[in-house]
Amino acid sequence: MMCSQCGKDHADDLGELAFRRPDALFALSAEDRQNKVKDSNDWCVIAGERFFLRALLPLTVAHINDSYCIGIWVELQPADFERVCELWRDERQAAEPPFAVRLANSIPTLAETLGLEGQLQLSGPTSRPSVTLTDSNHPLALEQANGISLHRAHEYSQVFA
Ligand SMILES: [Zn+2]
Repeated sequence: MMCSQCGKDHADDLGELAFRRPDALFALSAEDRQNKVKDSNDWCVIAGERFFLRALLPLTVAHINDSYCIGIWVELQPADFERVCELWRDERQAAEPPFAVRLANSIPTLAETLGLEGQLQLSGPTSRPSVTLTDSNHPLALEQANGISLHRAHEYSQVFA
């Protein structure tokens, strides 16, 4: 399908926009990163006091039957992180009420997204949790509430390209 904004066909070139780790980790010195961080591709703990999870932030895309998902990190309260760990392999984890979180990455194309408030919903032991923004005035929250164009999804996919 041809894009009404630029005339290209974006259907096959929607690359992933995914952050490898929370921004706070990259702010550390190499030494601190070595000594104070425990992490994987799913979770990250800094100095035993800051707790992060990798999540998906879905944006509904007009005219296609799918969402464009930004792979982004969120910071949780320590007790909530502990609860997520308890539920990590639980088939019924999606029944858990959402957790209050804050975005832990700055998306370069937007008004600052670091620290933006949201709700994290667990989905299942083999799928990433999803985040829904709660600060309704932020441009990204508006995009999540109202959906985006295919062209906008393509722009996101090119952020690090
Ligand atoms: Zn376009």
